Amino acid sequence: MKNTNIPLTISETQEGLLKKRFSATELVDAYLGKINKAKDLNAYITVCEDEAYKKAGEVDRLISDNLPFILENFPLLGVGIGHKDLFLTKGIRTTAASKVLEGFIPVYSATVVARMEKAGGITLGKTNCDAWAHGASGENSDFGPTKNPWDGKFVPGGSSSGSAASVAAGLSLVATGTDTGGSIRQPANFCGVVGLKPTYGAVSRYGIVAMASSLDSVGNFGKSVADTETVFNVTRGEDGRDSTVKNTEFVKPRAKMKIGIPKEYFVEGVDKEVAESVIAASKVFEKAGIELTQVSLPHTKYAMSVYYIVQPAEVSSNLGRYDGIRYGNPRADFGAEAKRRIMLGTYVLSAGYYDAFYLKAQKVRSMLIKDFEDVFDKVDAVLAPVSPTPAFELGEKTANPLKMYLADIFTAPANLAGIPGLALPSGFNKEGLPLGFQLLGPRFSEPVLFELGKLYEKETDYKIVLPNL
Ligand code: GLN
Repeated sequence: MKNTNIPLTISETQEGLLKKRFSATELVDAYLGKINKAKDLNAYITVCEDEAYKKAGEVDRLISDNLPFILENFPLLGVGIGHKDLFLTKGIRTTAASKVLEGFIPVYSATVVARMEKAGGITLGKTNCDAWAHGASGENSDFGPTKNPWDGKFVPGGSSSGSAASVAAGLSLVATGTDTGGSIRQPANFCGVVGLKPTYGAVSRYGIVAMASSLDSVGNFGKSVADTETVFNVTRGEDGRDSTVKNTEFVKPRAKMKIGIPKEYFVEGVDKEVAESVIAASKVFEKAGIELTQVSLPHTKYAMSVYYIVQPAEVSSNLGRYDGIRYGNPRADFGAEAKRRIMLGTYVLSAGYYDAFYLKAQKVRSMLIKDFEDVFDKVDAVLAPVSPTPAFELGEKTANPLKMYLADIFTAPANLAGIPGLALPSGFNKEGLPLGFQLLGPRFSEPVLFELGKLYEKETDYKIVLPNL
């Protein structure tokens, strides 16, 4: 199999495997060849060839045994996966892209990793990201920045930079990520792939390096809505190891649906082509029979302030465990961004400042939650830009953390409210960089977002294309 012929969706991959057009071992050969050729992108921190071949051998045996109901039992049969290097993988180095964990080999796997492997998925490697998931560009990795596969001068977005880039460049079929303030949706948007941030508490965080525990959401990237849905269905639900995860009834799509467009997401500073592409997407929904209406999320302007108080507060607490005794290297190995967040977080939690910053932020957070609740009384989903701009240039924002933080302005509100978001690609701007939009829904409305996402793909006959590397 040539590495240019790797199928682009789960169903095409599985059809090829079951019709014996190629074996899982040949598929792994092709992926590893492609990963090696695209080394410049720096999408992976660790490639696990031995484990991938071993798993491919198991998949090939399952297929030659002609098991009945094989896809029902193994919905990710032969699916090549990149795991964000925040997900613990038993026996495979897990660094969180930080020097602190450079030599850390976990003794168990995250629930999500274990479930995907049990479903027949093949782990190809660990993808690069901003260290500890702190960032919006991938440039905070201690293992060097990842590049945008569409143009190497640009960032792929972050923090799940390598996961988005690997899916976009065809170096994995799907990839995992975490989204604490946008880290799945924004890189998906910058790289032109589909990214799902599930409802807070829908997918277990067990075995995933924690960033900010009241915001962390575990999701995935794929080349179609159907693929992200398949991965979501394999990974979601109780595991008995994350007390926020309960098996819950999901919101079902209604026959006649309504989408709201929030006026606060079309303000000054939003790139013209970005705004136009979101409006163009709204027209596609309208033509397909969805009612559009303008809505208001009045406290959106406070979201960044709230996020950059609550999030560092929780970061400063979570990073306390890396004391240089239990895991790897000393605290001096933390990079500048982690140190900045530890200091900010410690400050807003300290006696005398707690009430003025942390407590106040929690109160405003409740108002942001209420904004979404009010809107979802009227509409099934909200349609909005993911980021105010398309991918920016490497180095453009590194000297100015505040500017970098503002990239999260349209993504962080969903994390503060615990609601799901689905980022979809919709084409390219004049410079050839991906454009797209996000759909947000009430808690546990993933089926609604999938239905709307698939409707968009169907109406536009949207087919993912890969960059020429
Ligand atoms: N860009 C955001 C931040 O730097 C989001 C991070 C994330 O979602 N992990 O905090």
